[in-house]
Formats: sequence, structure tokens, C-alpha cells
Amino acid sequence: MIKHLILFIAILSELIMAQDIEFANNLYFKYQNYKEQTLISRRFKLSDILPLIDRLKDKNIFSVNKVGESSQKRPIFLITAGKGKTKIFLWSQMHGDESTATGAIFDIFNFLTGNDEFNDFRNELLNKATIYFMPMVNPDGAEVFQRRNNFEIDINRDAVSQQTPEGRVLKETFDSLKANFGFNLHDQSILYSAGHTFKSAVLSFLAPAENFEKTISEVRSNAMKLIGHLNNVLSNLIPGHLAKYSDDFEPRAFGDNFQKWGTSTILIESGGWKNDPEKQFIRKLNFIALLSAFKSIADKSYKSEPLETYENIPFNEEDLMNLVIRNVLFKKNGTEYKVDIGITRTEINCNGSNDFYYKSAIEDIGDLSTFFGYEDYNFDGMEISLGKTFPQKFYSISEIESLNFKQLYEDGYTNVFIDSSSFNENFTTLPINITHKIEKDSGNNLKIDDIPNFIIKKNGHVKYSVINGFLIDVESIPSKFMNGVILE
Ligand SMILES: [Zn+2]
Repeated sequence: MIKHLILFIAILSELIMAQDIEFANNLYFKYQNYKEQTLISRRFKLSDILPLIDRLKDKNIFSVNKVGESSQKRPIFLITAGKGKTKIFLWSQMHGDESTATGAIFDIFNFLTGNDEFNDFRNELLNKATIYFMPMVNPDGAEVFQRRNNFEIDINRDAVSQQTPEGRVLKETFDSLKANFGFNLHDQSILYSAGHTFKSAVLSFLAPAENFEKTISEVRSNAMKLIGHLNNVLSNLIPGHLAKYSDDFEPRAFGDNFQKWGTSTILIESGGWKNDPEKQFIRKLNFIALLSAFKSIADKSYKSEPLETYENIPFNEEDLMNLVIRNVLFKKNGTEYKVDIGITRTEINCNGSNDFYYKSAIEDIGDLSTFFGYEDYNFDGMEISLGKTFPQKFYSISEIESLNFKQLYEDGYTNVFIDSSSFNENFTTLPINITHKIEKDSGNNLKIDDIPNFIIKKNGHVKYSVINGFLIDVESIPSKFMNGVILE
């Protein structure tokens, strides 16, 4: 009898899992019906989401409340849907430059107002649960696309001290809701890998610890089980790309304290995905992950997930770089050696606009066999040299535009010299760097942290250039390029 019961439960949970995977797959294929089309990149601001929030006031399933203000008096909203007993609270973008999940929240609003094959799910969800959304907790940070708030305080270290207005709004809302589940929505470095693999950690989860001992209370174990369930559902879509964030206790952070204060809290960090600089695919995965989580909370399917599923998710590792070129020959003062070169890119905001550019750096030199590149090349048999500055003076960008870049590379140049006080750009989309002065000889030394500007030759002929850490095949030089830099 008992044996039959166990078998029955096992079959039932297999069946539910299969249904949940099918649900996630359906969301994957139908996503375009719900994607909020006015948000198409990462650098949106409060003014971009205000009309969307305003629109929700006309839909009877939402109630929209302004619950506070940022230090620069920008409104912070709480948007509620549903009338069920189980309370789910989500908050996004307490770090102003972490907007991926905010986009997904607006996609979810569109989903919830839909009228289609998902109607049964919507009805069940909104009857069983009440969902509270706080998108863009840090609108001042979002305005200038920076992590911290206007006081330069990291709001996620202010859960206890409560010195930021944004942190106080979040805590007061949390206290007023006493939610069963909380979703703490962030972005992480795109250079995290899922374990020691070449696969980027596209989404990393965490059931934050409640104390230094990392006790597994019932509150925390429910968060762990739900994450295990999500891991199973999403592994189907992005196998090997899911990871776990460091579970060290941080006594000043919101997630850790909310867990301690009784809400099963789940951190979701949006990481990187190859060729998705604006993270729109990862936003779609957030949409699927959150709706799958709501479904599992509503039908309680997470409860049968063993804790081992969570335990077995690999941790984030720092094994990725943007570009790795391997086995290149480098000559210095008559000696030669073979090296791998690892390159990382940093985004720099352009003040006063929605724009940014990249500045790259040599991250490491030597045996990089334990690292992986989003772009990863074996250049065995090729020789690398540092790019030089072309000695001729130019007086305008249009003069530079008409240059033969392949010939410049062939002659060893990666930089050109402009003599113009009217040229004051931060970067260039030409496949070359621009400098305001002829540099002294760099000493032909590969150096950590230097901007990677190289010429790569095979049998004495140029095959590739590296301009500001971006590899260019000389047989297909792009006319528009992201991006060359202005050398100091
Ligand atoms: Zn964050």
C-alpha cells in the first residue's frame, strides 16, 4: 500500500514537472505577444516607465500606489494584482544600472492583462495569490545608470541602517506586506560562468542565508525548493547556464534580512549571454522564470522538490573573459615566447545621454587554459605585436574615414593622430583608435591593464587587428564598429 502511494506521488510529481516545462516552453514561444515594445534596451529611466504605470491604472486587475520617493523626489510605486491568500512581493533595480528584470516586470503586466490560451492560468494565479511589484526601487540611480543612489550609498547595504529613502520605502513596504515569497531582482557581472565551464551564468539564483551559520530554516528551505524547481524548468531552455550566487551571509543586505524576517526570499541575478549586450534574451528568461515561479507557488509544486536539486546547482565562478586569444608568439628584445592574452571590457556611460562605449583592458597574460572567452581563438602559429600610432597628422574625422585601414594594420598601426581642437568625442565607431598626441614609444611591452591594441600576423602578413580589445578580421573590416577609443 505504502509502496503504491510512493509510486503514485513520484508519477504525479513527474507529471507536474512535465506540465511546468511545457508551460515554460509555451511562454518562450509566445513571449513576443507580451514584450513591452517601448523598452528595448537597458538604459531606460523613470520617465520611460511612468506612462506604462499610468496605463495600468485603467486596467481593473491592477491597483497602482505611489508608496514613496527617492532622494531626488522621484516616485516609487507598488503595483498589485490578484486577490489570493499567498502574497508574493517582487522588487527590482535597487541598483540603478540593473534593469533587466524591470523590463520583464512590464512584460508580465502585459501578460496578466492578456486574453488568450493562458486564461486558466491567469485566473487561478490571481485567485490564489496576490502579487506586489515594486519596479525600479532606485530611480535616481537609473537616471544616470549607476548602481548607487543619489547619496552614493549602495541601497543593498542599507537594510538595517535605513539611511536612504529608497531603502526605507522597501523596508516599510516589506513590513506592511509580510509576504510569503520575495523576489530580489538584480543584474550580475556578465563574466560569471556557471561552475568551472565555458558557459555563462545567464541566471544565478540564491536563497540568501539568514545568519553566518547558513541555517536552513523552513522559510529558507521553501526558497531553496522553489529555486530547485525553477532550475529544472529552465535547464530545458538554457542547459548548463544556470548557477548559484555566493551564499555568504551579508548582514546589511535586504535579501538576507528579509529571509531572516520570515519571507522566503529568492535572489535572481541576470548575467551574460553571448551576443546579447542589451540583455533582451535574458529579460525574456526573467519573464519565464518569474511566471514559472508564480505557477509553482500557486499550485505548491515546489514543495516536492528535494533540497539536493538546489545544492547541486553550480556556483558562479569567475572563469570568463570577453576575448581570449591563445598561443600567440610575442617577441621582446630578441627573445620570443608564446602566450594567451585575456581581455575584458568595461562599459562607460556617456554623460547626459542614453549612450555608452567600451574601454577594454588586458586582464591576464600567460597560460589561461583555466579561463574561457565569450570569443575564444587559437592563434597558434601567429605573431602578435603592439599597435603603433601612425605619424601623419589628420585634421578631421572625414580624413580618417577615408583611410585604408588594412594597409594601416599591415604597417603595424592601430592608432591615428588628429590635430583638431573641435574633435572632442569620447569614442569612435571607426575601426581605429584616435589620439590627440603622438605617443612616445610604448616600449613594446605587453602590460596588464593596458588597452589591448594589437596587430596579429601570419607568415609576415596581417590577419587580424585588435582595436580596443575587439578583434577585427582584416578581410572583413567593419565600417561601423563598437568601438575605438580616444587615447589620452
Ligand atoms: Zn544588484
